[in-house]
Amino acid sequence: MNNPMRDDPGFGPERAVVAPGLVVAWRRWRLCPDQSGQPLLGSAHEDHIWSARTLRAECDPSRTWSYRLALDGREQHQAPAAGCRCGIYGYGTPELARPMGPGIWVHGRVLIGGPMFLTDNGFRGLEATIDGPLGLTIECVGGDDLYSPTRCFGSPVEVKHGTKVYYPVCSAHLSAPVHIAVEGRCDIADFLEAAASLAATLETSIAAPASV
Ligand SMILES: [Zn+2]
Ligand SMILES: [Zn+2]
Repeated sequence: MNNPMRDDPGFGPERAVVAPGLVVAWRRWRLCPDQSGQPLLGSAHEDHIWSARTLRAECDPSRTWSYRLALDGREQHQAPAAGCRCGIYGYGTPELARPMGPGIWVHGRVLIGGPMFLTDNGFRGLEATIDGPLGLTIECVGGDDLYSPTRCFGSPVEVKHGTKVYYPVCSAHLSAPVHIAVEGRCDIADFLEAAASLAATLETSIAAPASV
């Protein structure tokens, strides 16, 4: 079968179907602002919000280019399906789920449930449930310059937000981001309080980073 997934190094081949049950896996998420600047738990690589502790997958070919590519004329089906990309993903080790640099990231353990597939680096299943406290990293975006990108590990003092994105800044980078529209801001203590409140709605907790 000519399946575009097989040629995609980002996803790799699917090796086997795992029997229904629960497996421990690890995820990273972005915290992203709603219209009033309050944090939501967003998928790291999809435009999707986790509004509850458990998220159940639905295949929606209209949602992402990758689903359309993989499905290409096939019928809609219950997630996860062989040859498609639907399902909730989790990495097999916490190291793979580590945060990715500047911005605001959350990471933690999930239980993947339902029918599932093994992927190259973890699982994709019918649903996933946040299982335990979430770690939070807040890294200044001021070093992420377009022409000379570096990492800034200064303690963030303020969190700005644009559409769906937070921009934490340290005291040396209060004017960042320079070329991106900012719609609002709050100090770091208020942001951490809002993040703790979000965690409570997800029936978990968020551990503030040691540097803040
Ligand atoms: Zn699908
Ligand atoms: Zn900085």
